[in-house]
Amino acid sequence: MFWQALVKIIELKQDLDVVLSMFVKDTCKLLNIDACSVFILDDTEHVYTLSASTLVPTLKSGMIYISARDDLLGKVALREEALVVADMSKAPSYSVLQTLSRNKLQSLLAAPVVHKGEVIAIIAFQLSDKDKITENLQTDVATLCANLSLPLNRAIHIEDISEQIEDQPQSPLFFDGISANEGVQKGVAVGRYNITDIEEIPDKLTQSEDEENLFIAAVKEVKASLKEMLQRINLLVGNSEASLFEAYLQMIDSSRFYDAIIHYIRQGIWLQSAIKRVVLEQVAIFEQMDETYFAERASDIRDLGKRVLLVLENKILKKSHYAVDTVLVASEVTASMIAEVPKGRLKAIISEHGSSYSHAAILAKALSIPFVTGIKALPVSFIDGKEVIVDAYVGRIYIQPTKGLKTAYERLIKHESQKAVELQAIKDLPSETLDGHAIELKANVGLIADLDRAVTQGAESVGLYRSEIPFMIRERFPSEDEQRIIYQQILSTFPNKPVVLRILDVGADKTLPYFYEEEQNPALGWRGIRMMLDQSNLFLMQIRAMLKASLHHNNLRILLPMITTIEEVKEAKKLIRQAYKEVVEEGFDIELPAIGVMIEVPAAAILIDRIIGLVDFVSIGSNDLAQYILAVDRTNEKVASLYDQLHPAIIRVLYHLVKTTKKHNTEISLCGELGGNPLATALLVGMGFDSLSMNAAVLLKVKHVLRNVSYKQCRNVLKHVLKLATTEEVHTYLENFLVENDLGGLIRAGIN
Ligand code: PEP
Ligand code: MG
Repeated sequence: MFWQALVKIIELKQDLDVVLSMFVKDTCKLLNIDACSVFILDDTEHVYTLSASTLVPTLKSGMIYISARDDLLGKVALREEALVVADMSKAPSYSVLQTLSRNKLQSLLAAPVVHKGEVIAIIAFQLSDKDKITENLQTDVATLCANLSLPLNRAIHIEDISEQIEDQPQSPLFFDGISANEGVQKGVAVGRYNITDIEEIPDKLTQSEDEENLFIAAVKEVKASLKEMLQRINLLVGNSEASLFEAYLQMIDSSRFYDAIIHYIRQGIWLQSAIKRVVLEQVAIFEQMDETYFAERASDIRDLGKRVLLVLENKILKKSHYAVDTVLVASEVTASMIAEVPKGRLKAIISEHGSSYSHAAILAKALSIPFVTGIKALPVSFIDGKEVIVDAYVGRIYIQPTKGLKTAYERLIKHESQKAVELQAIKDLPSETLDGHAIELKANVGLIADLDRAVTQGAESVGLYRSEIPFMIRERFPSEDEQRIIYQQILSTFPNKPVVLRILDVGADKTLPYFYEEEQNPALGWRGIRMMLDQSNLFLMQIRAMLKASLHHNNLRILLPMITTIEEVKEAKKLIRQAYKEVVEEGFDIELPAIGVMIEVPAAAILIDRIIGLVDFVSIGSNDLAQYILAVDRTNEKVASLYDQLHPAIIRVLYHLVKTTKKHNTEISLCGELGGNPLATALLVGMGFDSLSMNAAVLLKVKHVLRNVSYKQCRNVLKHVLKLATTEEVHTYLENFLVENDLGGLIRAGIN
């Protein structure tokens, strides 16, 4: 498709001027038009600046601009619609394009590039007056502009940031994202790079003296592995296919590669930067040559560079020095990057891509590390090594903060840690309101680290054990016995309390590396109980492991995720009974466990009165329930602002669920993120939940709210909130409620 090639140009990591001038030229060629011009919104000046045009080959950006009211093109911005003019000379208003084209190109099609309701650019396509703007051209342009929205917005954003950095490299800067785990911290940024993206490697000066030796060692290792591959391929398919590796081996020793890198290192350039420079220089030379053969060589040299970088990464990692107050920064932070930071040094995490439900976020929550993600165009290399403040309450980070800001945040951080110490005092006190209404506060557990925290934070038990976590960090399914050992650890931590183990809930965003099938719409696909009932052998194996683990304590409760139909509940119960019979026959003296369902699919919420009779308890998974009620993917950063578990529709459904289960005397708890949000505590208590299960890191905050409000107040909060129609109203009301009760500090550091 023609537009894909044009979008790719905009995605190139080069200066916006350069990219746009390539774009206008290629657009003329591909759409067969005479001229193309791009005007970019300058939102501080409220004008559109001509940023590239085939009419002005030597354009200096900023020289020509139009205001929406004065130029014919302005109509596009005002109406947010494309404009077709058959003859510009007869149009009611003048356009700068007439002058630029010396009145030779009178047919005009101008189209907006709209991002989040704002016209961020106007693209003008011109033809000579005898040529007509065809319907085909109009639909092509509409398609192109729609596809440009995200990449162009991103490119403009990156350009703005780079200009800001270039103009005032020492000035403070801030970036906004979304919070993947709340909290506030400060520290020194340690950038981690995605070495598959060579352009992302920063230009830095030497970091240590032995970089030349490190490079020599890395080259030796790469050569050894290339030789091994060469031999293997030779044996498999013969000489000709193996020639690629021979070419690599020659290249790695060549003066263009090896000597050039050594040269840069000796000039004091950081080893990785030196590799990047040499690779990109060579790529540029090859790419200028027109033949396919040379394009292939460009990709080979990139590949070779990546191989050396990969080996280096592993070598350097082993010696990496993480500051005592490390703020991990990467385009995408992975769980392993977090795990690599030595214990106690990781203070906060920042990333461009990710969501609050990613692996990394789950880990950050377990470790209580503030995490801001979704920062558009995060300049990792600029931030690397700089002082950073991470405010993950509001999802903002500050780079090179001013002295005043630093002092203010130091106060907040101190306040936070004091608060955490103070909260320890209520750890063993009852979880009840001022007037004695008790509600159990339990922990959500996935990693064994969560289990320790559950104990130290005074959780009454485990309200949700996400059994998929140990499955996700392995390379194959754990055996029945491996599973039994893990479950035993969970069950024996709270031997006298019921402990809720959830059946494997994989699929959608929680995939297993060794058991995965691409789906068009995974959140609505083969996940949770659906997969487990289809793969009943896996289900039975897990149940058997859970049952055996419950020996001596008999405190197991089994929770079924993603229930949508009555049949699923019946089938799961049948299999559980079968496994129970088998295990008892094997000599295990255990009781049949209580069985509960997660209510996280709207169908199950609607059918709750029919489901209740089949189960012993109900647990609401507000994370998924919100995703399906709101029709918002909980992991998609593009729609993150629409995902809010305090949406009035969700509140109504939750209340309906509590009322119905209570009518049937069935126990109901909530184990989604909402349960651990102090903002929602009074509301949920008012509804009548028996227990809330949450990330143990926030448990004492929730307990503090609980112990400082009365049940009567909670009922009033519920009554009031049920009348509200928008999420914003709910937030404002609940925030005010906490502040009025001197509890504001629980949702925002430093308040109260
Ligand atoms: C939920 O959906 O609310 C829930 C607790 O399950 P998970 O977040 O593991 O999908
Ligand atoms: Mg869920």
